[in-house]
Amino acid sequence: MDHTQVKQTHRTYHHQKRILVTGGAGFLGSHLCDHLLADGHDVLCVDNFFTGNKQNIRHILQNANFEFLRHDITFPLYVEVDDIYNLACPASPIHYQFDPVQTTKTSVHGAINVLGLAKRVKAKVLQASTSEIYGDPHQHPQQEAYWGNVNPIGLRACYDEGKRCAETLFFDYHRQHHLRIKVARIFNTYGPHMHPNDGRVVSSFIVQALKGEPITVFGDGSQSRSFCYVDDLIDAMVKLMNTPDDFTGPVNIGNPDEYSVLELARNIIRLTGSKSQIIHKPLPEDDPLKRKPDITMAKKHLGWTPKIGLEEGLEKTIAYFRAFIQK
Ligand code: NAD
Ligand code: UDP
Ligand code: UDP
Repeated sequence: MDHTQVKQTHRTYHHQKRILVTGGAGFLGSHLCDHLLADGHDVLCVDNFFTGNKQNIRHILQNANFEFLRHDITFPLYVEVDDIYNLACPASPIHYQFDPVQTTKTSVHGAINVLGLAKRVKAKVLQASTSEIYGDPHQHPQQEAYWGNVNPIGLRACYDEGKRCAETLFFDYHRQHHLRIKVARIFNTYGPHMHPNDGRVVSSFIVQALKGEPITVFGDGSQSRSFCYVDDLIDAMVKLMNTPDDFTGPVNIGNPDEYSVLELARNIIRLTGSKSQIIHKPLPEDDPLKRKPDITMAKKHLGWTPKIGLEEGLEKTIAYFRAFIQK
């Protein structure tokens, strides 16, 4: 090893952190692990494989800086780390409604365990919260100061209220125990590694279009969402983790370009060159009418704006699912 190599190793060592990613084998978590490894960190991925899978992390399993632990975050976890990204929680309605009690436990008991861990080892901890905490919003676009409009006893409540309670716990541990916290309110994100059968709109429409099956638009398709490509989202999460300690958020992270579900369906049909027809199915209970983040705070505090537009992001995602379906 020559002198330059020694210096290089030395520098990497000093910048290297031990980082825990809960839910690290899921869609967002696996991209986050990739990003943190590429930055030279030592990554511990914890996941119970409820919705995530080994395929998402297979390419990093042999990386010496990567470690996987199969564990359910509703149970205590004793490890020594510097930073924690808490992503463990099923995110698509069909998955989080499959076992709603477990969904609430994952958000609430999971947050308590992660916060207890962060308190013991004095780690910095980031919560993957969600735009769902705004419910079916009366404010548009949604700003962080908006308290939301959530049905506490509906089918989405296990997820929405679980995530709201997790935010409460984060802020109480911050106030009571002086923990360094970051809360990211993530808006609809899409990209490679999404679960092909998770019922989320982008993955569902792409898989239906590629298979030539009918595209299932719920309701008349006039409800809107704003779709962020995964690389932009991960970039923002890492920037948020590295903001000064006095910045806690909550901060909206998402792409403010808003599309109706019908527009999304038409775009996906065009980009895949599919002959699929659009069919309409009933709108699910408590389905928010519109959703679009106000990202003024993210721009100011993270110096971040999304760079990848819908068409470019859809093309990358379509390429992933095309290869996935052919396997
Ligand atoms: P995902 O379902 O792909 O990932 C969640 C991961 O958590 C999976 O790998 C799953 O196996 C794991 N998990 C679930 N319960 C667990 C438990 N009890 N213990 C350990 N691991 C558990 O979903 P995603 O889209 O990657 O979402 C990641 C996080 O981001 C979630 O917390 C979600 O609420 C949040 N989020 C995502 C979006 C989005 O559009 N993708 C939007 C808002 C918030
Ligand atoms: N905990 C954990 N790992 C740790 C420390 C704590 O999983 O390294 C769990 C612990 O089981 C507890 C929870 O985190 O149930 C909350 O911890 P805290 O110290 O805040 O509360 P207490 O232990 O006083 O109930
Ligand atoms: N949606 C749809 N067809 C589908 C799946 C979803 O029309 O096959 C609609 C759904 O009703 C909602 C929007 O797409 O209005 C986004 O749904 P998703 O489950 O992806 O996310 P969320 O509702 O949590 O934003």
